[in-house]
Amino acid sequence: MWQKDKDHFIHPFTDFSVFHEEGCELITDSDGIYVEDSRGNRFIDGIAGLWCVNVGHGRAEIGQAMADQATRMAYFSTFNNLSNAPAAELSAKLAELAPSHLNHVFYSCGGSTANDATIRLVHYYFNRLGKPNKKRIISRNNAYHGTTYLAATLTGIESNNWAFDTLDHLVTHLSEANCYRRPEGMSEAEYCDHLVEEFEDTVAEIGADNIAAFIAEPIMGAGGVLVAPTGYHKRMQAVCRANEILYIADEVVTGFGRLGHFFASEAVFETQPDIINCAKGLSSGYAPLGATLISDEIYEVLGTPQGKGGVLSTGFTYSGHPVSCAAALKSIEIIEREAICENVREVGPYLERQLKTLGHHATVGNVRGSHFMMCLENVADKDTKALLPVEARVGDRIAFEAQKRGLIIRPVGHLNVISPTLIWTRETVDTAVAILDEALSAATESLQ
Ligand code: PLP
Repeated sequence: MWQKDKDHFIHPFTDFSVFHEEGCELITDSDGIYVEDSRGNRFIDGIAGLWCVNVGHGRAEIGQAMADQATRMAYFSTFNNLSNAPAAELSAKLAELAPSHLNHVFYSCGGSTANDATIRLVHYYFNRLGKPNKKRIISRNNAYHGTTYLAATLTGIESNNWAFDTLDHLVTHLSEANCYRRPEGMSEAEYCDHLVEEFEDTVAEIGADNIAAFIAEPIMGAGGVLVAPTGYHKRMQAVCRANEILYIADEVVTGFGRLGHFFASEAVFETQPDIINCAKGLSSGYAPLGATLISDEIYEVLGTPQGKGGVLSTGFTYSGHPVSCAAALKSIEIIEREAICENVREVGPYLERQLKTLGHHATVGNVRGSHFMMCLENVADKDTKALLPVEARVGDRIAFEAQKRGLIIRPVGHLNVISPTLIWTRETVDTAVAILDEALSAATESLQ
């Protein structure tokens, strides 16, 4: 199996120089908070697959719901006037769970395609309003919005686009909101003013008539689990409102419970986005699915025929795929039935507190995040916040030592991300933090 994989499977986000020597790790089994490799080693999954298996692994009832749908009617088009029951039901459920003005759903195949489709719809919306110059999308450095051409352009992680091309005429990046590395001597409140002013200045420079939307993750995920200063999102939205710029919340990671609510935008950050994008936790990763939740106001324009016999000519073969929608409906049912958002609100602050106890380790410069979305930033010097050389591979070392001890966490450069399944208990947190404590000691020692 390893040989077949090594010879033929082009893995995403993989260093092939190392891969060709080391081959891959086959994950073969899973159950609840655990996954197991082909050698029978069992690990606590500290990354929920890839920020997505929110209800935990091995849920037979999701598998059954998918099997029932697949054997009854696995696929049929949703173009024109055709539909299927799971897609219709899921749309109504999402409208119920989302902020009250978001009542319309456009389906895609994951997070990148949701973002990509959204930008096309936003451009179409302004074209229909007779404002064809409103094209530019404002994103942020270190944002992660995916890897289709347009989503990769929205993404602001420089290394991600290295040697790739991007559609730069469509996107402008602002600074990320990085409280840990904010300018020396600036309070958090002053830093917030500074970021909002940067947005205002950018709008003045480009011209509101040329800007269609601002897109932001409520908490930046892959870019380093960056929690913005208090009030930041609300104020950024106010700038959007004042300039007829749509506010798009990319809730691909934060949606479906990770911060203790189905959607974080309104419940946590007090914003009312014009559009919310979601994927990952939407189906708990049991099937590929993305969704764009659209306001009544925008829908009124999109829903008007573009001409006699005209149609909204965009969509995917798999928009509203019945098996994926059946998986999502069952996953949402589990989140509600098992009070999983409540679990995150209860256990999340405990996870934050316990991870902060690791701050005494020599490399741990910052422990940050919120609820089940956490990160350690490793440094060479805590005072200057200087980084270790890339060759030290500090994130990899720590992740390797943790995995040896039965916990999978994610290395992202000098960072380690912890984004567990949402069913961790306080006992799971204690076990995971004890493993991390040992792993950090071992990794620090190996650096000497
Ligand atoms: N948006 C955010 C915030 C993400 O974290 C991701 C993936 O990690 C995406 C979009 C892209 O999603 P996908 O990999 O499903 O295309």
